[in-house]
Amino acid sequence: MHYDHIIVGAGSMGMAAGYYLAREGKKTLLLDAFQPPHDKGSHHGDTRLIRFAYGEGARYVPFVLRAKELWEELETLTDKKVFHRVGILNFTPKDDPYMDNIIQSSKQYNLPVELLTPKEANKRWKGIHLTKDMTSCFEPTSGVLMTQNIIEAYYELAMKAGAEVIGNNRVVKIEPVKHIVKITTENGDTFTADSIILSVGAWSKQIMNDLQADLPITPIRKTFAWYEVVESIYDDSNFPGFTYTDGEKTYYGFPSIDRAGLKIGRHDLGDEVNPDEEKAPFGSVEGDQEDLDLFLKTFMPKVGKLKYGKTCMYTMTPDKDFIIDLLPNHPNIAIAAGFSGHGFKFASAVGEALKDLLLMGKPKIDLSPFSIKRFT
Ligand SMILES: Cc1cc2nc3c(=O)[nH]c(=O)nc-3n(C[C@H](O)[C@H](O)[C@H](O)COP(=O)(O)OP(=O)(O)OC[C@H]3O[C@@H](n4cnc5c(N)ncnc54)[C@H](O)[C@@H]3O)c2cc1C
Repeated sequence: MHYDHIIVGAGSMGMAAGYYLAREGKKTLLLDAFQPPHDKGSHHGDTRLIRFAYGEGARYVPFVLRAKELWEELETLTDKKVFHRVGILNFTPKDDPYMDNIIQSSKQYNLPVELLTPKEANKRWKGIHLTKDMTSCFEPTSGVLMTQNIIEAYYELAMKAGAEVIGNNRVVKIEPVKHIVKITTENGDTFTADSIILSVGAWSKQIMNDLQADLPITPIRKTFAWYEVVESIYDDSNFPGFTYTDGEKTYYGFPSIDRAGLKIGRHDLGDEVNPDEEKAPFGSVEGDQEDLDLFLKTFMPKVGKLKYGKTCMYTMTPDKDFIIDLLPNHPNIAIAAGFSGHGFKFASAVGEALKDLLLMGKPKIDLSPFSIKRFT
């Protein structure tokens, strides 16, 4: 069973890469430990924010703008809802560096943003309460990506383009053998390929250890929750997505979409976990709910009671930047890992870049900020 390319981990990044490779006519196999989309990794919970004026730094902007083009293309290829353009309101205390980065990104790349005083923001959205010492910036072209729909859409398109997808079959061994790579799964199947992609999310450290490579990647437990709301204040036609940071605490959230309630999560903090072990459920760790309640009481006091919460995993690197590269000792193995809780919005462009890495050695997008060599 020899393939041009095998993708180990068909989640957010892997499923996109599989589609772009299959679309080039390459014989492609995607393997996953579960049946994607699923709730065991980092892509569940329905929604992810996509922002273009990037608080994490302007170096991300060309990458996310390419991702936007590909999300728009994906919308034309599937009937599923992909990108919900609700706009995002970013708010911080005055003079916060995160807001400076957003403004800098917007100027450098000519992105539409509206700077709003607390009074203007409070007037525009009945559901928000900003205090005088704050500043805010609304990006009308940004919004929400529907994660499960997207993974399903890439799955269907990859199959249509000739790829094979096998779920519930964990890869347990990866052996570079001369110019090919041999893969063994938990079911005892073996496959070979000219080149492979490792896109296993929270399991990246484990799989890299099998290749005798140590990467500083840490899977952490994250939580998010849905709250009851008055739809006429907080639904997606009346309320935007949002981010808040004060340099110490960072929160993000979504309007009520399809009457699901307002969804909110805290971006910083999180305990290291073993991705194979059951995670402590939402509410069982001190602070899970209290943190969110306090934030909502302060800035969105019209939000109602908690409906329910869930857990998920981030895969952190020390600098919170991604790793997208070929392995230095194995140039026919690419890795996409360490998305540090802000990777989904890039998944389409990461998939394309991985395809380019394998087929041309050098993608059109500058991947130097994401080089593995910064850690080796
Ligand atoms: C609560 C939460 C909120 C987030 N919010 C945002 C946001 O608003 N905006 C944003 O851009 N990003 C956000 N992110 C981050 C984003 O979701 C992740 O960066 C992204 O999903 C990571 O994709 P991935 O492909 O690395 O991992 P996954 O999508 O988890 O894919 C990894 C896949 O590898 C498979 N796998 C693992 N081991 C093996 C093996 N040995 N063999 C075969 N398969 C294997 C897994 O089953 C899984 O399907 C958020 C993440 C979380 C958890």
